[in-house]
Amino acid sequence: MKTYYIEYTNQEVDLEDCPFCGSDPIVKRLSLDSWFIRCSNKMCMAEQAVYRSLSEAAIHWNHRV
Ligand SMILES: [Zn+2]
Repeated sequence: MKTYYIEYTNQEVDLEDCPFCGSDPIVKRLSLDSWFIRCSNKMCMAEQAVYRSLSEAAIHWNHRV
C-alpha cells in the first residue's frame, strides 16, 4: 500500500499495487464525478469500472482479488 497525491482535487489516497502484476496504479479522473484506477503497466491493462468518487474507486481497487 502506498499513498498517492491527486493533483486534480488536492487529495491523498492509499492504494494497493496492481493485484495482477504488482505495478503502481494510476488514478484517472474523467469528470468531476467519474473516476477510475488502472495499472501503470501497459502490458497488464488491469482497469476498473468508473466510480462516482475517488474514495469509492480506491475502495474497489484495494479489494480486488
Ligand atoms: Zn498490473
